[in-house]
Amino acid sequence: MPAPRPFHVAKFGGTSVGTPERVRRVVALVAAAAPGHRRVVVVSAFGGVTDRLLAAIEAARERTGEHGAILAELRQRHAEALDALAPAAERARLGADLDALFGGVRELLDGVYLLRACDRRFQDAIVSAGERASGPLVAAAFRAAGHDAVALDAREVIRTDDAFGEAAVDFEATARLIRERFAAIPEGTLAVVTGFIATTPEGVTTTLGRSGSDYTATILAGALDAVECVIWTDVDGVLSADPRVVPEAFSLPRLSYEEAAELAHFGAKVLHPRTMRPLQRKGIPLVIKNTMNPEAAGTVIGPEHEATPERIKAVTCVRDAALVRVVGAGVLGVPDLTARAFAVLADAHIDVQLIAQASSEGSLCLAVKEGAMEDAVRLLRRAFRRECERGDLHGIEAEPGAAVVAAVGDFMRDAPGLAGKMFASLGRAHVNVRAIAQGASDHNLSAVVAGADAPQALRALHEALALRRTRAHVLVIGAGAPGRTLLPLLDRQAPALREAHRLNLRLVGVANSRRMAFDEGGLAPPDALDRLAEAEAADLDAVIGRLTAARLERLVVVDATPSAEVAARHADLLRAGIAVVTPNKAATSVDAARWQAAREAAVEGEVPYLYETTVGAGLGVIATLRDLRRTGDTIHRIEGVLSGTLAFVFNAMREGATFSEAVARARALGYAEPDPRDDLSGRDVARKLATLARELGLPTDPADAAVEPLVPEPLRGIPLAAFLARLPEADAAWAERLAGGAHQYVARLRADGSIEAGVEAVEAGSPLADLRGPSLVVAFHTERYAPEPLVIRGPGASADVTAAVLLADIARAAEAMR
Ligand code: ADP
Ligand code: ASP
Ligand code: MG
Repeated sequence: MPAPRPFHVAKFGGTSVGTPERVRRVVALVAAAAPGHRRVVVVSAFGGVTDRLLAAIEAARERTGEHGAILAELRQRHAEALDALAPAAERARLGADLDALFGGVRELLDGVYLLRACDRRFQDAIVSAGERASGPLVAAAFRAAGHDAVALDAREVIRTDDAFGEAAVDFEATARLIRERFAAIPEGTLAVVTGFIATTPEGVTTTLGRSGSDYTATILAGALDAVECVIWTDVDGVLSADPRVVPEAFSLPRLSYEEAAELAHFGAKVLHPRTMRPLQRKGIPLVIKNTMNPEAAGTVIGPEHEATPERIKAVTCVRDAALVRVVGAGVLGVPDLTARAFAVLADAHIDVQLIAQASSEGSLCLAVKEGAMEDAVRLLRRAFRRECERGDLHGIEAEPGAAVVAAVGDFMRDAPGLAGKMFASLGRAHVNVRAIAQGASDHNLSAVVAGADAPQALRALHEALALRRTRAHVLVIGAGAPGRTLLPLLDRQAPALREAHRLNLRLVGVANSRRMAFDEGGLAPPDALDRLAEAEAADLDAVIGRLTAARLERLVVVDATPSAEVAARHADLLRAGIAVVTPNKAATSVDAARWQAAREAAVEGEVPYLYETTVGAGLGVIATLRDLRRTGDTIHRIEGVLSGTLAFVFNAMREGATFSEAVARARALGYAEPDPRDDLSGRDVARKLATLARELGLPTDPADAAVEPLVPEPLRGIPLAAFLARLPEADAAWAERLAGGAHQYVARLRADGSIEAGVEAVEAGSPLADLRGPSLVVAFHTERYAPEPLVIRGPGASADVTAAVLLADIARAAEAMR
């Protein structure tokens, strides 16, 4: 006699058997899979049916008058499925079975209506109807497709205790019954088994808890020594987070049983928490696959433990939790507090999700399901009545509306810093942690947060732990040249920053002085300006109000305006924990007190305030200065050519152009401000020097600067056209003055804070000599860099360079907010 063929178990959830069309797909999938095996198919109720049955119970109990209609709707749905799926010859018999089943449910619901109550035993009897209806219909669908198939009611083979609603399986009795029953099913016949339902030894219907069909499947697989158990659902396996909350969640190729169990325990709906148990001892693999996308590999869950570089594989959360606090009176406390509290709750089958302890006060904090909160409080008050009366305990308090968030992965103990990263991420996402789990296990780290913060917390943890990325949000104020050039650059660089630098920069808004386009979920940079044109009206107050309310993690505001009004709000943003990156010189050089206030606000808000582009565009002048100071150097003097426009004008004159020609050429090439007098006045250079002075903590006011203006007195107040027409009047004087050698417009900051700027002859060989076009040069004369100064030289500002340095500052700001 040949050896019996091995078993293969496949389970299809409600999502996979939601419609007759989907049931047919299931039939095709099973037919194609596992040839040469004895096939067992476990099915849930059709999608949504269990929830509707629960709604019917609620309606009957509340006497809303709707339970009859709900039941009729369910009956109708199954009648349609019957017509669509079953072989014609079987329809009458199966229809009669459905009538009997729904008639029975109707009687039970009428009982609930009369009693205005429904205990768990009644509830189990009613909700079991979902699986009892779907199982025979799916079996009929297999027969209609030409397969030998029988329907098997799991209540025949799965024995549990009488903990209705979430009954505990008697594995010994169950395994025996399963083996006996399957021995009677011919090898070539496929068995379609109802998930979720079972009975007590007395034959009373029980259920295994929500999502219990997963568990039914593995109980069968374990008892039958199946080669594999496949759970078919509507996602590509177990994902790194609930995709409805975290859109970036990705499918995990492999998980250990422990990891999967931990995820399920902490709320991942894709699996019933006990699913792994029957497989573990025998090492039977559990595969999670997508009915809608069977080609995807899905997730394989098995005995192997695999350490990924991230350690954390997934994040998850249990909603509707409550914190119960046993508040101690002092240092001495109650010695066996924890053990006794646990015993009391375990006796009442109250699952403790998490425990935290403050040993200094002898206090204990437990997270339980919200539905169990009142029972837990009552039981604990009773158990600790004497301690409360004696004053050893202050009392028992409860706080509903919490959520337990957890990060799951094997080998977490070997990876130091994960807990720190977890809590830092929650902090950066402005999520308040109410309790931290005691002694994290090898597989999970968990914390209690307010229920309303759970989505925010999950997204932040997924990004930081499962993706190991730093996520920052960016809002650009100002739709002028810097903003317009920055947005496409951000768009181009974002993928590389995400992949190579693990920095996820997400544009969430753009604003100008009248409007703001804002989307917490992200704006595509190329469309952002178009969105702005149609966006809601928002003034600066509205923009700032919106940003502070959004509580986005690592928010960086780019002030790409030249506006003093916007600069005046930097301190507000920084104090609210929002980083500011800006090329706005009005922020750094005009009002010393305001700049100082902003710097202090940045310290208070613990966020960076970066304005590299305000001096020397892309040369890194400010960064260099900060490093010199940080490393203990003493600055004696900084001098250089800080205006690309003026450098160009003097270089052109050296090569033979007249002053007016040189200015006209600078304008034509786009190196000058629209009114070149803004450059020629020297004010811009003075402001840059003032910025450097402030960086050094020197009390400098640009108004006191000794600045030589290059616009002749009579040409100052006149219209631009007249100015340009009359500029040649100055040519002769310039020709005379510059005869005899190279000149530059040199800016200088001295150690006492005094600043000066004006035309100077530069000797050949000096760091300031030999500039080309609109180039800049800065020489730092310091204690360390002597006698030769530290010199930085390079092209002056252009829109591209400014945008690049703004992006670098955004990245630096984001990374500084770890
Ligand atoms: P079924 O009806 O097949 O049993 P469920 O609705 O019970 O399906 O479970 C699948 C759903 O679980 C998915 O559609 C998804 O929304 C949700 N889910 C929550 N967390 C996760 C996770 N970590 N991985 C996969 N799915 C998850
Ligand atoms: N039908 C049950 C439920 O909705 C069991 C399951 O789907 O696994 O919870
Ligand atoms: Mg399920």
